[in-house]
Amino acid sequence: MAAKFIASAPTFSKLPELGLPEIGFAGRSNVGKSSLIGRLIGQASLVRTSRTPGRTQMLNLFEVDKSWAFVDLPGYGYAKLSKTQRKELQIMIADYLARRETLRAIVLVLDARRTKVSEDDIAAVDWVTHHGRILVPAITKCDLVPKNKRLNNVRQIEKQLEMPAGSAIVCSAKSGEGKRQLYSRLTEVCGL
Ligand code: GDP
Repeated sequence: MAAKFIASAPTFSKLPELGLPEIGFAGRSNVGKSSLIGRLIGQASLVRTSRTPGRTQMLNLFEVDKSWAFVDLPGYGYAKLSKTQRKELQIMIADYLARRETLRAIVLVLDARRTKVSEDDIAAVDWVTHHGRILVPAITKCDLVPKNKRLNNVRQIEKQLEMPAGSAIVCSAKSGEGKRQLYSRLTEVCGL
């Protein structure tokens, strides 16, 4: 894949419109979202460098293979945010979910080790479905869970998010597991 960083935007209205089918990536901060995007596009450094300290609370837009787009949404559940910052973040994400015409699906990134799902993750699922968006759960860092425990962890996570068993894609940015499956699900929802 050939990906290009296009822009960082502090609000939805400042996010450029590329006219390409788009995938948004959401998840708690530190869950492994940027590593997973980096692994998908095969350019780990591109995503990392777009994340300068001032940009972690922004929408970061990438053009991929000139045919689709990825948006790295700000990580949620970040303890150091003030009440006002939290509110701003909620508005930004709600606007994006409600108004982004080219948005095809949201990848919700979850941690394979955390069998107890956070309230923020449950709220994220509610928001995505409330706005009628397609949700693609991606359970990452699976390399950190022994193979004989993975299925159990995945089923526990799916259950708490009220998603059918087998709906999540199990993956790892480190080992590359699940990359093909995630890629093909995303190209499918984008009609590519
Ligand atoms: P973000 O804040 O959600 O974008 O998280 P990052 O992608 O920056 O990752 C947070 C930390 O988890 C970093 O130290 C990564 O190296 C590590 N990490 C991310 N993905 C994986 C993975 O699949 N396996 C392992 N073992 N570590 C990972």
